[in-house]
Amino acid sequence: MNTKQIIKRARGFAKPYRITDGKGFRLKDVDPGDTMHLGSEDKPRAKEALAIGIEALAELQDMLYAQDRWSVLLVFQAMDAAGKDGTIKHVMSGVNPQGCQVYSFKAPSAEDLDHDFLWRCMRYVPERGRIGIFNRSYYEETLVVRVHREFLERQTLPPELVTKNIWTERFQDIRSYERYLARSGTVILKFFLHVSKKEQKKRFLERLDNPEKNWKFSANDIKERAFWNDYMDAYEDTIRNTAAPEAPWYVVPADNKWFTRVVVAAAIIEALDSLGLHYPKVSKEKLKELRAAKRVLLGGKES
Ligand code: ATP
Ligand code: MG
Repeated sequence: MNTKQIIKRARGFAKPYRITDGKGFRLKDVDPGDTMHLGSEDKPRAKEALAIGIEALAELQDMLYAQDRWSVLLVFQAMDAAGKDGTIKHVMSGVNPQGCQVYSFKAPSAEDLDHDFLWRCMRYVPERGRIGIFNRSYYEETLVVRVHREFLERQTLPPELVTKNIWTERFQDIRSYERYLARSGTVILKFFLHVSKKEQKKRFLERLDNPEKNWKFSANDIKERAFWNDYMDAYEDTIRNTAAPEAPWYVVPADNKWFTRVVVAAAIIEALDSLGLHYPKVSKEKLKELRAAKRVLLGGKES
């Protein structure tokens, strides 16, 4: 497959799941089990396509790094066991670790809570030339914090600022912040890995039954599962209010891991390709310098 074909296929996988305008978005319109009509017999071909995609991604990232102009922020959000970690691991497996930074955001520390809600994430936005991955992010602020009111209380905000508009205000602030990042040369892609409640149960049971997966299980995950519908409402409202052309959401079906990975890789490849990346052009003076260096190396004046 040549580069053009890879890009074309990537577009085909990414576009159906991209949301750039959240008006009218409904989570129930996306089927977590969707595989775009590919059956399990297509799985080996899909895996092969992913491997080719990963190679293409590595090349694009190399140019991103060399050019040192754009940065890329990939945000991953999902319910537990939806496959965030595995997707990040697989999709980024070909990428040079020097050009890639992953941050996992857990429950906030006392220091985090003493600051505005974007603070702890702002410190980790990627440098130019780099891909930054947020495994959970400031989006928790309109998800878990909305589902569990006590987390908001822990933020010790001045009470008069905590009104019924707080979530609308947070959406506005997030949108403004992402627009600001985009205007500074950060490409933002946000992924919601949409797993079904049924598939989550299956994966939790695997974690309980398989000794190698036991470590992944946390009793808290079961507690959170009881709030499933509240989370779905919070996700839907968040996506409706924060999808934008400069910071699209991808709502990725996540009941089939192989398919999730293909869609995520496709979205990243397409976004990087659209930047028209190229290796920095070498100036005439630099070319002269390179030729001179070659003469020295080949001329035998140097051992
Ligand atoms: P993950 O669940 O992402 O795979 P993990 O299981 O290793 O990671 P957890 O201890 O579950 O780690 O940490 C993530 C937890 O932190 C989640 O329950 C998440 O909702 C919570 N969290 C993240 N950001 C916030 C926040 N801003 N406020 C409150 N809780 C948060
Ligand atoms: Mg967890």
